[in-house]
Amino acid sequence: MGKTYDAIVVGSGFGGAVAACRLAERGRSVLLLERGRRWGRQDFPRPPTRQASLDSAPFGSAQGKQDKPAGRPGGGWWWSEREPGLFEFRRFPGMSVVVAAGVGGGSLVYTNVQKVPPAAAFQGWPAPITLDYLRPYYERVREMLEPTAIPHDLQRLRAFQAAHAAIGKADRVERPLLAIYWGQGGEEERLNRFGARQLPCNLCGICAFGCDRHSKNTLDLNYLKRAEDLGAQVRPLCQVTRIEPRGDGYEVFFSRLSASLPPASLPPQGQAEEKVAARSLYLAAGSLGTTELLLRARDSDRTLPKLSPRLGQGWSPNGDFFGALLDSRIPLQPTVGPSVAAGYDATDSGGFYVLEGAIPAALVARRRRALRILNRIVSLLRFSWARRAAGVEPSLPACGDAETEELLRYLGVFFLMGRDASDRSTPLGTGGRLQLDGRGALDLDWDPRGSELLLSRMRRYLRELGRGYGGWMLVPQGWWKKGFSTVHPLGGCGMGRESSEGVCDPFGRVFGYQNLFVCDGSLFPSGIGVPPSMTIAALAEHVVAHSDR
Ligand SMILES: Cc1cc2nc3c(=O)[nH]c(=O)nc-3n(C[C@H](O)[C@H](O)[C@H](O)COP(=O)(O)OP(=O)(O)OC[C@H]3O[C@@H](n4cnc5c(N)ncnc54)[C@H](O)[C@@H]3O)c2cc1C
Ligand code: SF4
Repeated sequence: MGKTYDAIVVGSGFGGAVAACRLAERGRSVLLLERGRRWGRQDFPRPPTRQASLDSAPFGSAQGKQDKPAGRPGGGWWWSEREPGLFEFRRFPGMSVVVAAGVGGGSLVYTNVQKVPPAAAFQGWPAPITLDYLRPYYERVREMLEPTAIPHDLQRLRAFQAAHAAIGKADRVERPLLAIYWGQGGEEERLNRFGARQLPCNLCGICAFGCDRHSKNTLDLNYLKRAEDLGAQVRPLCQVTRIEPRGDGYEVFFSRLSASLPPASLPPQGQAEEKVAARSLYLAAGSLGTTELLLRARDSDRTLPKLSPRLGQGWSPNGDFFGALLDSRIPLQPTVGPSVAAGYDATDSGGFYVLEGAIPAALVARRRRALRILNRIVSLLRFSWARRAAGVEPSLPACGDAETEELLRYLGVFFLMGRDASDRSTPLGTGGRLQLDGRGALDLDWDPRGSELLLSRMRRYLRELGRGYGGWMLVPQGWWKKGFSTVHPLGGCGMGRESSEGVCDPFGRVFGYQNLFVCDGSLFPSGIGVPPSMTIAALAEHVVAHSDR
């Protein structure tokens, strides 16, 4: 079989990148297996042309549908085992989940927010995990990812502040820390302190689709760069399918995927092409990925039969929710600036956190027809409003390209997250549970009932905010129960004091197995209600600091 590594890491997101880096720093031989590809500066998928055939089909509206612009060697939008795209979209009854695939995991598409949660977010987590305990680990993450508040004074920021001032909530508005290289106002390229090249942010707003300038401090430019420079092997396009204890370590089976087209033909599920071995195994394939690997190992391959009965339970979408603003009285100019620029922190009073978002110009250019329809609707609403208010007959407003352009300046999107009820052992017994269905595929049973109070607070806030902007806030209503979605899946292999309470102990060690660790978002015993990546990385720092001494 070849070399036995000191450690194998599965997945290269906020957990895996930290693990690979810190283990390599300790002189361990490290192999990192990542199912996604490496995404270079010019590789990210984009609509076929920047200048839009304006009314042509929208980008990537269905799984498996790919846009591949000429001159872009990279892959398509959507991940499937036959086509390693950038996003994976998984639809479960009542809940859809979006995650990323690639070297750098979620950092490739995230909106760069690095947020330390309040102490209350760790309520019910096993000792020693508290905010105070984790502070030094947050500090390590901060040193590596270099997040800073946006130095630019955008119209969006002023509008967010003004709208909150209008509803008496301005004191909780903040500029969140963003892991972005801003530069000094010019085009100066820098080598960051790990030796990776970055151009300064040009405020294009497309961060959630991959940054063409590498201005985002993504994990491939810091933790993973350092890991590779220290000798860690990072192998993209290697999808782990099975893990098995062997001797005093583990064998890991994986399929090599092909980035080339036409799609690679893969061996049937479970018949992996290759295997590698290590003394220690660090699972960091994300909440869904890691939980699925362990469920298979316990329930179908039966290679790890002693795994906790809690496996798959306590899953949380981190209370993700959203609102869309139409026809604000205050101009927002949402096409200028990074994906997210401002936040509203109601973690103590309401148990939730809010981010305002950009509408990237490069993408809306191709949505021109939808914008025209939206403009028509807004115009009609204004028309009927004016007629009722004034009792006169105003003329129907114009609805051409100039007005559509203007409309865009007054739109807004808002992303909310909160501490939802993710634990079925609570009195209501609601939350999420991941399991394998009869065909061995991952399934999610999600029951939002315990989160109704949080949801009603979020809705109330959004309606108020709409009034603050003087516009119409579209707030999802009843369909939430049937059609919820999240970009922050957490839990499934939660920590606990013992195996009846968690899959792992508070140091990420899997109960029942030596040298098997979990160090990603699946380790959370509950959602935390703020963007979780900094906490995932801090926990991974803590797990690795206590392993393999
Ligand atoms: C659009 C978007 C915006 C977001 N914005 C923010 C934000 O601003 N701030 C924030 O804190 N969080 C944000 N998030 C969430 C954040 O990205 C995730 O919480 C974080 O990436 C999770 O880290 P992780 O290490 O648990 O998993 P991931 O980062 O998802 O990494 C898991 C990796 O494992 C790989 N993998 C999975 N299965 C296998 C397998 N079988 N074999 C090999 N490799 C595998 C995946 O390809 C992936 O690269 C955002 C997410 C999205 C999608
Ligand atoms: S706004 Fe544009 S340049 Fe700046 S970080 Fe986001 S994608 Fe990169």
